[in-house]
Amino acid sequence: MLLFTPGPTPSPEAIRVAMSVPTIHHRTPEFEEIFKVVREKLMKIMNMPEVLMLASSGTGAMEAAVTNLCKSRALSINAGKFGERFGKICKAFDIAYTELKYDWDTPASIEDILHAIKSNPSIDALCIQICESAGGVRHDVEKIAKAVKDVNKNIMIIADGITAVGVEKIDTTHIDALITGSQKAFMLPPGLSMIGLSKNALLKIEQSSKGFYFNLANELKNQRKNTTAYTAATTLIIGLKAMLEIIENIGLENFYTNTKMRAQAVNAALEAIGLKIYPKTPSFAMSTVYDERAKEIRSIAKKKYSVNIAGGQDELKDKLFRINNMGLIDSYEIAWALNAVELALDELDIRAYDGTANRVFSLKIFKGAQ
Ligand SMILES: *Cc1c(COP(=O)(O)O)cnc(C)c1O
Repeated sequence: MLLFTPGPTPSPEAIRVAMSVPTIHHRTPEFEEIFKVVREKLMKIMNMPEVLMLASSGTGAMEAAVTNLCKSRALSINAGKFGERFGKICKAFDIAYTELKYDWDTPASIEDILHAIKSNPSIDALCIQICESAGGVRHDVEKIAKAVKDVNKNIMIIADGITAVGVEKIDTTHIDALITGSQKAFMLPPGLSMIGLSKNALLKIEQSSKGFYFNLANELKNQRKNTTAYTAATTLIIGLKAMLEIIENIGLENFYTNTKMRAQAVNAALEAIGLKIYPKTPSFAMSTVYDERAKEIRSIAKKKYSVNIAGGQDELKDKLFRINNMGLIDSYEIAWALNAVELALDELDIRAYDGTANRVFSLKIFKGAQ
């Protein structure tokens, strides 16, 4: 079965091999050396002056960022399931929040955000997805962050980059917390989250950190010494080291270019067989299609052609399908996934099969077609 969901993504063999070692103790010089290397590589790829690794799924890092960086009121951007989650975190911790809601295909508007922060001076944190994975929309976080800082430089910008880090170059100039997780572009099994932190975020954390397991001041103190407050996710961190080395060997720019080219070729192939790309500003992380029969298309792709693609969530559960573009993907695998979708359309009598999806994809990837 080919796993083509935008998280979890399949772990390449080199990573699985790297992780097939006996468990080592986390309080040892051997592990601290690995931890140090991974920390440095992460700071570089995230382009942030500090980074913390937490043994949790991505949501744990979202919770840690909100509870440690928001002191009075959050402004939460809800353009899908993951944006909604920031609001739910605030609620769970009795943190006041204002929410701006958008349709899942629609990027957040700078005007709305500026209006909200100007009319509510108690807002001290903006929570936003870089890519909202529910509908595959790319918010213009860099531009939004700059505009917000121009109004009030003390507002913490908490950016959920779980499907953005390792996908494209993110301008982190105005981002205070950049969150990611192991099971998306880094292609590891789930269970490790990471937060890149700005200098201002570090100051805020050192002044008034909160919580116990997700107390970032405590983690900061330990991780600067290449250890963790509690038992580290040692095996995942060893796998992450292998993945970061693979990315370095490919070259970060090449890695990003490959993802972008693949995403554009996949979208073009899907459109060429009459499908509609859902988001108004699609992220390169995934190709998201709106179709009344999305559920049937997915079901045929899985049962008959062994391709597992993701559906939608909530009201769009059966109307969207999402194909992953993140990480290291062999062209022959994504080509087969596209072929499976085209064959499914044929089987559903939506469109007769003629190999168009693969032709368009191959021309773009291998023949440089525009
Ligand atoms: C996957 C994802 C999450 C959730 O991460 P978990 O690892 O499931 O906790 C949060 N935000 C975005 C944008 C995601 O894609």
